Amino acid sequence: MKKRDIQIALPVTGEEEWNAVKEPLLSGWITQGPKVAEFEKKFADRHSVKHAFAVTSCTTGLHMCLAALDIGPGDEVMVPAFTWVATSNVVLYCGAKPVFVDVCRKTYNIDPESIKKNLSSKTKAIIPVHLFGLCADMDQIKKVIPSDIKIIEDAACAAGASYNNEPAGSLGDMGVFSFHPRKSITTGEGGMVTTNDDGLAQKLSQLRNHGATISEEQRHIGPKPYMLPDFNLLGFNYRMTDLQGAVGLAQLPKLDKFIEERSKWARYYKDALKDIDWLILPEEPKNGTHGWQSFVTFVDPSKSPLPRNEIMELLQKNGVSTRPGTHAVHMLNYYIDTYGFSADDFPNARDLDKQSMAIPLHNRMTQPDYDYVIDNLRNL
Ligand SMILES: *Cc1c(COP(=O)(O)O)cnc(C)c1O
Repeated sequence: MKKRDIQIALPVTGEEEWNAVKEPLLSGWITQGPKVAEFEKKFADRHSVKHAFAVTSCTTGLHMCLAALDIGPGDEVMVPAFTWVATSNVVLYCGAKPVFVDVCRKTYNIDPESIKKNLSSKTKAIIPVHLFGLCADMDQIKKVIPSDIKIIEDAACAAGASYNNEPAGSLGDMGVFSFHPRKSITTGEGGMVTTNDDGLAQKLSQLRNHGATISEEQRHIGPKPYMLPDFNLLGFNYRMTDLQGAVGLAQLPKLDKFIEERSKWARYYKDALKDIDWLILPEEPKNGTHGWQSFVTFVDPSKSPLPRNEIMELLQKNGVSTRPGTHAVHMLNYYIDTYGFSADDFPNARDLDKQSMAIPLHNRMTQPDYDYVIDNLRNL
């Protein structure tokens, strides 16, 4: 077998994105402006929501959502124990307490049964994560939480994904997407906050821009040059640039094609790898679309020929990049030091941290690339 070099992820960017940034560069309007506005409108339409606000990242978007709900010291926000560290860091940015909830072994997503046990009178919000593009079980989550607890979807990996045929980003009070290059569409760095709630929308639009009551664009094109905004909220500068907005506009029309291709190759993997008894393959939604941000397997330690890390090293030697799915956040040093967690507090998150393995799946891979990954796994 001739050696190949297959990366874990690689964005599809090229001439179209290159051309897209020319217009803002030539016009001189490079901060948030008409390109961002158009990107927001089209992103909102694609995800069936009334409002979308482009921001600098999913992390800042999540922070902004908590700020829009006035979450602060004394409040608790539930987050899954197995996720990217940003999901819980944003709770700490507000001075509130992240309350970790274990995840399901099969879906990697927050476990509704464990949510029930962790509810308290201080719980103000919950951030279910649609990990790796599979939507969390939103119906069950809504069933177990009181109706005054706000739901913020961490849809970082879930652009274009759906649950019961409703798009991610429209399933809670607010949703937040990421356009980091490891997600399915990218603007370099960037994020998008979605909501159907007009009151929250007003707050989000202000919080993104220092709390200003009118946007720079309104001020620029409006008829009243003497007008300065009022600032009645403590806001941030989380604005996306129009350069990124232009790239987003070039990427968004490709989203559905990207997901379709990823789904096709995910099925190809599932078919070709199903009889490897030590490798547990990811679940698919019963009634919706998986975004397939990544294809994350579980290396069963009781059956695998080698420990996971040795498998990953061997694959890397052969040119196949893999990664652990993501972190058990309670096992990260900052969280251990702050809260004194032990690994066993959230056993499923602990095991997934140690045994999960993402294998390459992205829109620049070809059939021989997939076959090469499959052969390497089968030959272990
Ligand atoms: C990537 C990711 C984030 C952070 O997104 P950024 O845009 O890099 O801030 C947050 N949550 C999850 C689940 C992610 O995968």
